[in-house]
Amino acid sequence: NPDKSNYHPLNDAAWRKGEKIPYLALTRTFQLIEETRGRLKMVEILGNFFSSVIVTNPDDLLASIYLSINQLAPAYEGLELGVAETTLMKIICDTTGRKMDFIKSQTHITGDLGIVAEQSRMAQRMMFKPAPLTISGVFKKLKDIANAPGKNKVTPIKDIFIACRGSEARFFIRSLIGKLRIGIAEQSLINAVATGIVKSKYMDKMKKMGEEKLKSEIDEVTLILKTTYCQCPNYDKIIPTLLEHGIDEIEERCPMLPGVPIKPMLAQPTKGVSEVLERFDGLTITCEFKYDGERAQIHCDENGVISIFSRNQENNTTKYPDIICRIGEFSKSGVKSYIIDSEIVAWDVEQKMILPFQVLTTRKRKNVDVGEIKVQVCVYAFDLLYLNGEPLVTKPFADRRKLMKENFNETEGMWHFAHAMDTSDVDEVQAFLEESIKGNCEGLMVKTLQKDATYEIARRSRNWLKLKKDYLAGCGDSLDLVVIGGYRGKGKRTGSYGGFLLACYDDENEEYQSICKIGTGFSDESLQTHAEFFKNHVVPTKKSYIACDSSLEPDDWFEPVQVWEVKCADLSISPIHKAAIGIADPEKGISLRFPRFIRIRDDKTPEMATTGREVAYMYNSQDQIKNQQSRQNVID
Ligand code: ATP
Repeated sequence: NPDKSNYHPLNDAAWRKGEKIPYLALTRTFQLIEETRGRLKMVEILGNFFSSVIVTNPDDLLASIYLSINQLAPAYEGLELGVAETTLMKIICDTTGRKMDFIKSQTHITGDLGIVAEQSRMAQRMMFKPAPLTISGVFKKLKDIANAPGKNKVTPIKDIFIACRGSEARFFIRSLIGKLRIGIAEQSLINAVATGIVKSKYMDKMKKMGEEKLKSEIDEVTLILKTTYCQCPNYDKIIPTLLEHGIDEIEERCPMLPGVPIKPMLAQPTKGVSEVLERFDGLTITCEFKYDGERAQIHCDENGVISIFSRNQENNTTKYPDIICRIGEFSKSGVKSYIIDSEIVAWDVEQKMILPFQVLTTRKRKNVDVGEIKVQVCVYAFDLLYLNGEPLVTKPFADRRKLMKENFNETEGMWHFAHAMDTSDVDEVQAFLEESIKGNCEGLMVKTLQKDATYEIARRSRNWLKLKKDYLAGCGDSLDLVVIGGYRGKGKRTGSYGGFLLACYDDENEEYQSICKIGTGFSDESLQTHAEFFKNHVVPTKKSYIACDSSLEPDDWFEPVQVWEVKCADLSISPIHKAAIGIADPEKGISLRFPRFIRIRDDKTPEMATTGREVAYMYNSQDQIKNQQSRQNVID
């Protein structure tokens, strides 16, 4: 089919209204998406599929959505598949009669066990045709597999694998490995759900409606879904509500709730006190210490159940039993439910002072036993997002802060409110910045108090500016970049990679844009560790969601899986790199000069990397560029 987005599984697969939808219809859709270039088309294909599901069997929509992003439940529930490749290879051998050496060599050549599984399965003749797989059946089995202990996973995997037809085998195996490789991320998924909702409503009348009207309605629904997902990132709640009550009531019926982590508000970097004051000219602001620890969203529901979520919405509750057991001291009487935004730092009990971030990282990540704790922690609360059944995010920060102070207690070395000073005097801000650094903090967070002072969920906002000590010299903030390729090393570095290709993330088009090659900042051991890690993430060809000039072609392409913090001397316009293309320059991208590896950012997923827009902002904020621009303005 030349126009793949016209594919409508409704007309293709043999399923009727009310019947369970075959898994094959979904994997055929994935196959088309994988063969398609261009995000809009990919979204359209998935949207068409969802619209077919909604008209035929809406009960399958939730499972179809989760399978499209290879999740089984909201991310914060931590239910993961990630079955080891060797286990899957053994299952493929056992069920198809192929030899292990053959499977291994084919996987090495294709770089994809999913394809090898599909080919092996198709080459096999079956005496009896197993019953067709359904979306709901596979989804339920995958949940059982995720919940089962190691060796009990094998039988249910075999049961499904034996029943796979065509591309089902490829995507089933990829789901188990944890990499679907169709490049559908959160924004595209929400877009596709919106497309599905709108198209299912009009189905036959779509032609009459005209492209324009259809598109504007899809955009409108997308926006509502995005807002809803921000406050309640849980499809288990959103999708059934959407199907029952429609899009008009969704925002109201899926509110923010304690127990469901929201994506945090983030700050924009700035280079100096004067830039901060220029931005906030005329607004009332506050400066808070920027504590260097781990972000913690502390939730308490009406039943008193406490959960602590990380910056990435991971459930960190079992990491902090010492906080949980003293949480009763924190809230005053009358407080029944709340969400507090805070930073947890390591605390020196004797010296009564904050310890560096590195000390906190020595603490165990999960299932910590109170008796074993060596590193004490202290919570610095800086925002209150929800109190006694009411979301507060649309209230100005001054009101939220007042409510926080009225309803919570401080206890030395355990609970504190972020140390703050309301001022817009340059000298005072500078002195406060120095004070924060002396107190083992990273610098300041400068926030609006009244006007433009709502809590902007999931946004890197201009109403929160960060002023870090290391910005004050050199090139502003460090960047968090995704490793997309490796260049084999020479001399001492033979056998590992000597350099890597890095990219920023363009969150609008959901693509990774090359920004620099990097070969500095690594020890020989760290190069070995990186080579070992990326060995398992090599892909045979460049994926459609990578924007990169052919002259940069690395020896190995990697799947975007790891984020590195990188510093550089400065940023410059580049004829070959694609970062922020079309923003600072209409045709050229931006690259980093003298990039240096700092550390791996385990707390960020590739989609949380520095965006193209942020790169352009950093480029434009360099003094040299600002001077050039103001000179140009004078000439104009
Ligand atoms: P960074 O490397 O600077 O931590 P980031 O992308 O993780 O970058 P930013 O938005 O850049 O996050 O900086 C805000 C972070 O600073 C928050 O995520 C939080 O963990 C931390 N923080 C410390 N003190 C405060 C405070 N008073 N108000 C808000 N955030 C604070």
